[in-house]
Amino acid sequence: MTTVLGCIADDFTGATDLAGLLARSGMPVSLRIGVPDAPPRDTAAFEVIALKSRTAPVAEALAQTRAALAWLRQAGAQRFFWKYCSTFDSTAEGNIGPVAEALMVELETDLTIYCPAFPENGRAIFMGNLFVGRQPLAESPMKDHPLTPMQDSNLMRLLEPQVTKPVGLVDRHTVVQGASALKTALARLRIGGVAHVVVDAVADSDLSVIAEACKDMPLMTGGSAVAMPLPGLYASDGLLTGAVQGQPRPALGQGTIVLSGSCSSMTNAQVAAYRALGAPSYQLDPVQLAQTGAQGALDWLAQQSQTSAPLIYATADPASVKAAQDHLGTARAGQIVEEALAACAVAARDRGVDRFIVAGGETSGAVTQALGVTRLNIGAEIAPGVPWTFCRSGGRDIALTLKSGNFGQEDFFSDAQSKLEQS
Ligand code: ADP
Repeated sequence: MTTVLGCIADDFTGATDLAGLLARSGMPVSLRIGVPDAPPRDTAAFEVIALKSRTAPVAEALAQTRAALAWLRQAGAQRFFWKYCSTFDSTAEGNIGPVAEALMVELETDLTIYCPAFPENGRAIFMGNLFVGRQPLAESPMKDHPLTPMQDSNLMRLLEPQVTKPVGLVDRHTVVQGASALKTALARLRIGGVAHVVVDAVADSDLSVIAEACKDMPLMTGGSAVAMPLPGLYASDGLLTGAVQGQPRPALGQGTIVLSGSCSSMTNAQVAAYRALGAPSYQLDPVQLAQTGAQGALDWLAQQSQTSAPLIYATADPASVKAAQDHLGTARAGQIVEEALAACAVAARDRGVDRFIVAGGETSGAVTQALGVTRLNIGAEIAPGVPWTFCRSGGRDIALTLKSGNFGQEDFFSDAQSKLEQS
C-alpha cells in the first residue's frame, strides 16, 4: 500500500524503537535496514529506514539520509519523520541538526519541531531542558557515553551549533493549552524567522497535542514517542485504508545468544543481572582484541551449548571504557568491539542459533549488517521501545531484538527470552 509516513532513523535500535511504537496501533509497519537497493515494492503504510548515521561524518550522514528520503518519496510518502535518540545523542558537528536542515531543503519547508521526549522511559523536556528520570541530561550517565557524551541539558544550546537557521522553543505552558495554541505559537515563530523549534513535553498527553498539531507538517523530528499517536490520527483523517497486521511469528529452534556492546549504566546493570543468574559469559577486552582478534571469543562460543543462551559482552564501566579509548582511540576501540560482536553473531547463526538479543545502537548496526538482514517485521514488545523482530538471515527465519543502551529493566536479557516464548 502507499506509504503514509516515511521515517528515517539514525541508528538501528532507534529504528526498531520507532517501528515498535508505531506498531502498537495495529497498523502494518515495515523496517528496512539501510536504504533498499531495489525500488519500493510491497510497502507498508508506515515505512522506517534504519541508517547507521548517528556518529558518521556529516557528509556521509547527509548522503545516506537523502537516499532514504528519495526511496520513501518513491513509496508515496508525503510526510516524513526524522528519528534520533531520546537523549539527543549528537556532537557539536551533528548529525541531528545538519540532517534536519538537509531534509527541510529537500522538502521545501522552513520550519520543523524537535521533540525527543519519551515519558514512558523517563525522558521529559521542560523549558527546553531534557531530563533523564529526575536528572538533567548532562548529569545523567549520558555524560559519559563513549561516542556522544552529552554535557549540556539544554536542547536549544545543543542544536544551535549544529544548524545555520535560528532555534526557538515552545514551552509546556503553551503545549498544555492544546493543539491550536501550539499551532499558533509555531506560526508566530515561523514569521519571526525561526526554523528549528524545540517543543516541551513531559507527559504522553503533551505528545498527543504535539502530534495533533504537527501531523501534516512535511517534516517532524524527535524521539519515537511523539510519533506514536500518528497512526491513529492518520486513520481518523482517512489516510489509511485496508490496513492489516504484519506477518505471523515464524517457527524458531532453540538457540539463543546475547551480545552486548553498550556501555550505558543500564546495560552494565543488565549484564551483571544476567551473569548473576549463572548464564555462561565471555568478556571482550578491546585492547586484547586489537592484539589477538576475536578468535578467543569464537573458540569459547563453539564450546557453549546452544540452549544455554550465552552472553558475550564488551560492556564495561566508564573508567575501563576511557582506558581502552586512551589506548586505541575512541573510534578504533568502538570498531574493534563492533567487529568482534558481529563475528560472534555470524558464528552463532552458522551454528544454528536463531534468537539474537543485542544491546547497543551502534553494536546492533554492526550485528544486523553482518547477519545480512535487510527487512524486519515487528513482533511482541519486550519493554517500551524494544520489540522482538523477525527477519531472514543465512536463508533462515531468525528472531532479533535490538536494545538501545539505556532501555529495558535490569532483567532485560532473561525477560526478552520469556517474552518471545509467550508471544
Ligand atoms: P548505546 O546504545 O549504549 O549507545 P552503542 O553500541 O551505540 O551503545 O555504543 C557503544 C560503543 O562503545 C560501541 O561503538 C562499542 O563498540 C563501544 N564499546 C563497547 N565496549 C567498549 C569498551 N569496553 N571500551 C571501549 N569502547 C567500547
